[in-house]
Amino acid sequence: MTGAMREKTKLAGVIGWPISHSLSPALHNFWLKQHGIDGVYLPVAIKPEEFSRAVAALGEAGFAGVNVTVPHKEAAFAISDLRDERAEAAGAVNLLLFRNGRIEGRNTDADGLAASLKQSLGADFLRGALGVVLGAGGAARAAVLSLDSLGAREIRIVNRTPQKAAALASALQAKVRAKLFAQGLGDWNQAANGARLLVNATSAGMKNSPPLELSLDALPLDAAVCDIVYNPLETDLLKRARARAHRTVDGLGMLMHQAVPAFEGFYGVTPRVTAELRAALEKALA
Ligand code: NAP
Repeated sequence: MTGAMREKTKLAGVIGWPISHSLSPALHNFWLKQHGIDGVYLPVAIKPEEFSRAVAALGEAGFAGVNVTVPHKEAAFAISDLRDERAEAAGAVNLLLFRNGRIEGRNTDADGLAASLKQSLGADFLRGALGVVLGAGGAARAAVLSLDSLGAREIRIVNRTPQKAAALASALQAKVRAKLFAQGLGDWNQAANGARLLVNATSAGMKNSPPLELSLDALPLDAAVCDIVYNPLETDLLKRARARAHRTVDGLGMLMHQAVPAFEGFYGVTPRVTAELRAALEKALA
């Protein structure tokens, strides 16, 4: 696109506060270029108190929709006129589509993580097995739904604040097939026993946050370790898991896969998650 945006230019973006760290513009702009689409994807910094007004304004300005990130996912759920099953189960929305004067809220995080795990570990890796999710926030909620969709028999939710793990397990038990258990970090050795997959869905290990203080000694050596934190890409947890020869999955896979239905919704083309896309995002992260 040169010069001014044309009337037919398709507009979309990502709303967060702050937003400058987001990799979503690099991701969607890679696909826009690859498919030769006349479209733009913008980072939009919106304070919590301005969220609903900003969403209405973007809809009126002709945006096809927006991705929603921290801290707006619950507010996005609340303002949606319609919600998909994933959004209802998650109680949060990471994708808003403006269609026929209505706001459609979706949540693509759980399916994004499932697609990433399937691609890295195989479709049946977790079937009938035991998964452990660390954390009890929005990302952990998506991780529980994701592991359930991969056929986990049992999911142990382990959180620094055990009460939050218990609240998450009781909120989700009716929505999943897997048996859910809640534990505190102090019970980690017991939680790790027999695990086939460990997913870190806490914010520990993120750039400018302390690393996750968790010994991997109790984890069976055939267990895989996934960290959904993607900045840095190789977290301290993944480094230590690799050193013990666990199979590992980083957070970029989830990020790329959760974006597929968003791009489809905004621009009408189904994009692919490829090695070239990963390389472009790794470069953007560096
Ligand atoms: P959140 O709602 O703020 O939850 C944070 C969780 O981390 C809580 O369970 C908290 O425990 C735990 N925690 C924080 N610091 C900790 C520490 N030092 N040790 C142990 N536990 C700690 O955050 P969220 O929205 O769920 O997001 C979590 C992470 O997921 C973020 O890093 C985010 O970037 C990432 N994420 C990645 C993707 C992707 O596409 N790859 C998508 C979504 C989210 P307490 O309850 O005890 O406070």
